[in-house]
Amino acid sequence: MNFFDTHIHLDATEFDSDRDAVWQRAKDAGVVKAINVGVFPERWEKILSMATLYVGIIPGIGIHPMITGTVETLNLDKMQQLLQKHRFRIIGEIGLDSFYVDCPTDRQEKFFRAQLEMSVQFNLPVALHIRKQHQRVLKILDEFGRKEWGGIAHGFSGSLEEAYAFIKRGFLVSFAGPLTNPNSRKLQRIATELPLDRLVVETDSPDLPPRHLPTTRNEPAFVIEVVKALAEVRQEPFNLVAEQIFRNACNLFKGDES
Ligand SMILES: [Zn+2]
Repeated sequence: MNFFDTHIHLDATEFDSDRDAVWQRAKDAGVVKAINVGVFPERWEKILSMATLYVGIIPGIGIHPMITGTVETLNLDKMQQLLQKHRFRIIGEIGLDSFYVDCPTDRQEKFFRAQLEMSVQFNLPVALHIRKQHQRVLKILDEFGRKEWGGIAHGFSGSLEEAYAFIKRGFLVSFAGPLTNPNSRKLQRIATELPLDRLVVETDSPDLPPRHLPTTRNEPAFVIEVVKALAEVRQEPFNLVAEQIFRNACNLFKGDES
């Protein structure tokens, strides 16, 4: 059985001492593909080289909303240049997050819009990071007049109605470790109601480890715990759920096989 972790940060310093072993463990567990999203401009090149080194790693490029308070705008030019030269396959993670009070809304939106433009220009899917700003993000997406975005609403935390609004615009809805928490009632309800062919899973490694595992560092091999939780809350067979969500994630890169 194959698994696809749709959101990881294997470039993070937390993995500096044993990155090879972490990816090997993922592959041994059946995690054959993972999207490594970009957060910091200074790590974009590292993500590219990781994608060459590790089979199955899909490189993403993006400026995370949490650094928009201080990051230089010339990094947008750098991003544009790298996109012209290299085969990044997704723009992200990008978005809006009202928890980052030191990143003013206008700065967050400026970076978000500029990066959405690049996703249109290079015809790439988008990995969205959104907290408490789902309506605003939907409004900005609609300003582009693009019907089918293609992409992933990562670590989804909005309402069921908002989930449907993202699906309508061509996004997949992704669940992470919090789905394994029995107290995540709202999230579980959303995971049960939505059509299976629009869902994917992720670890967000090294963040958000599954509840019951004795570790503070998450890793891609643990994505199977999220698949288990998803099958359980939906009361559907594990194999059926696993196969469908693997296909959903693969379809995002259809016609883009390396
Ligand atoms: Zn992330």
